[in-house]
Amino acid sequence: MNSFLGLPVWFFATYIFLIGLCCGSFLNVVILRGLSGEEFVKSRSKCPKCNNQLTWYMNIPLFSYIFLKGKCAFCKEKISIQYPIVELVCGLLFLCSYFIFGLTLKTLFLCFIFFFFIALCVTDYLEQVIIDYHAYILAIIGFIGSFLNVFDINWVQSLIGALVGFFFFEILARIGCLTVKHRFFGEGDSLITLALGAIFGAKALLVIIPLSFLIQTFFAIPMLSIKAFKENKKQLAFGYFIVLLSIIACFCVNYFNLFKNDNHYLVFVVLISLLLFYSLKNILAELRLKAEQNEQNPDENNFNLMPFGPALVYAGFLVIFWFDEIKLAIKFCLY
Ligand SMILES: [Zn+2]
Repeated sequence: MNSFLGLPVWFFATYIFLIGLCCGSFLNVVILRGLSGEEFVKSRSKCPKCNNQLTWYMNIPLFSYIFLKGKCAFCKEKISIQYPIVELVCGLLFLCSYFIFGLTLKTLFLCFIFFFFIALCVTDYLEQVIIDYHAYILAIIGFIGSFLNVFDINWVQSLIGALVGFFFFEILARIGCLTVKHRFFGEGDSLITLALGAIFGAKALLVIIPLSFLIQTFFAIPMLSIKAFKENKKQLAFGYFIVLLSIIACFCVNYFNLFKNDNHYLVFVVLISLLLFYSLKNILAELRLKAEQNEQNPDENNFNLMPFGPALVYAGFLVIFWFDEIKLAIKFCLY
């Protein structure tokens, strides 16, 4: 962090945080227009319920939401909490990149990257959709950044990273077609790995992809398990639970070196494998059922079996700030 022109650090910090809030506000528009397919038209924002035009003081990022207590000033309709959250997250991430990388070109590039990272997460979270051009713009930012030597890789590595990311995930997704007759991951996820490859390079993908699977394990699998339990699919809920437990158990065994005796270790591996085989059988059966239902209702054909976009993007976020630490941890657990 460097002070500039004799101005104190807090001055830039406040300024960058406010820019982040404003970008977040614009990002909300980008997300909504992206999802609804609307063109960017220059018009004042309106309340979606009562259509009243918002005046300037109802349009201040974050603060308006707080002052209006989350309701439209005219019709008192609740305003979605998504707006202030996106604004705040954008502001905080801009601030983080300033604190870590200072007033540099890298910070500027990171701000652009964060902007589209959040866009990918929110659209995938809201409607399980990845907007193609968000990923393409990210890839272009990565390519230009490496061309200008902003990142640790050069433009050739960036290009190779993009290709490796795309084809690796595309192949992984299509393995699903062989086993459950449906892609394991949506087309959007391959585009995200294309973008991540262009930003970080192919080597970093060796860290990012396993990390994203770990994130998916700890966030999505418990949710899937609870969902299955609520739908009264107890076997399936148990299956997901076993998968999660097995991963944690394997991690603990390696990390704490629990089995000094090889025979005990062998028993552990056989037990875990049997349990995993049983639960994966249930999970694959459920996925096959879902894929079949999906074929019968082509209207809902845009769903994918494992929404994976957010996990990939979170891994990207983490790698920006803690690449070396995460690299060590992943190496330790997996390789
Ligand atoms: Zn209203």
